[in-house]
Amino acid sequence: MTNSYIDQWYLDNLVCPIDKSQLAYENNQMHCIKHSHIYNIFRGIPIMLVDKYQKTNNLHSLRTVNIVEGREKLRFDLQRDLKKNEIDPLVQEIIAETNSNFYTKAVGKLKTYTIPDFPISTNDNKHLLDVGCGWGRWCISSSKSGFDTIGIDPCIDSIMSAIRISKQLNIKTKFVIGDARFLPFKKDLFDNCFSFSVFQHFIKEDVKKILEGINFTLKVGGISNIHMLNKYGLRSLCMQIKHIFKKYEYFQTTYWSSSDLISLFNIKIGHSKVVYLSFFTQAQYKDYHLFKPMHKLIFNISKILNSIALKIPFIKYFADNIYIISKK
Ligand SMILES: [Zn+2]
Repeated sequence: MTNSYIDQWYLDNLVCPIDKSQLAYENNQMHCIKHSHIYNIFRGIPIMLVDKYQKTNNLHSLRTVNIVEGREKLRFDLQRDLKKNEIDPLVQEIIAETNSNFYTKAVGKLKTYTIPDFPISTNDNKHLLDVGCGWGRWCISSSKSGFDTIGIDPCIDSIMSAIRISKQLNIKTKFVIGDARFLPFKKDLFDNCFSFSVFQHFIKEDVKKILEGINFTLKVGGISNIHMLNKYGLRSLCMQIKHIFKKYEYFQTTYWSSSDLISLFNIKIGHSKVVYLSFFTQAQYKDYHLFKPMHKLIFNISKILNSIALKIPFIKYFADNIYIISKK
């Protein structure tokens, strides 16, 4: 299942995700020199998951380990490159899971990839880490905005899809399979860190751990843009009332207030601020034609609230989607 090729970048920049020690490459595996933790390489992609050594409760990484060790099969194991206008079959299937329920009408019918606009740009190839990159929509978007992007995700199906799409679109992103709570990157490596629609799926203790990992690998002066859900967002409030008597479920949403987020990010990364993004949905205007009439209506109300918030700033405190921007 594995092959012997690995890009030198990985050998130069990855460290053991458990103890951050240096890795040695031998027999198509990476070994940590301090405690001999072993990491496999699957088709040139390092599998930096720690499930062999730590209890992660991460279903994505458990599935990945099963695939790498031959007990399960990839969802779409395409043995060819994607054609010029073809949409990757995994993206066709999971678009509503990754981009929100506004995209349910587009499942199986996408004609182009839904690539959002990246909120920042650079002229000098800054190194950017995309945490929880999935099939790579933000990797493509950041790459188009001038960043030299590395995407990390525990789900091997998503990473294989991201690799196919990057090749198809001629995007130079690198990918690593890993758990956000155990980032496998050396100290002071990245200028920027980005994550969208990922952190809300972790419990608060895990978010703290992820932020410590980001702080470790971010350069001094580096910037992180992390998308979060606002506890007092209009949709968030409805969802919390709806789920008030529900027991915790895997991948369930965790809500934070923006003041709690600022306090935490100030401590874990550095000076932080909130940028209020949108009400109700994270769907993108450029994908409007893909939405059902009901979702178009909600999207328009969201746009109206956004413009009201420009005139009456108090309204923005009820936005659902926010970025926490921090400087190390
Ligand atoms: Zn180690």
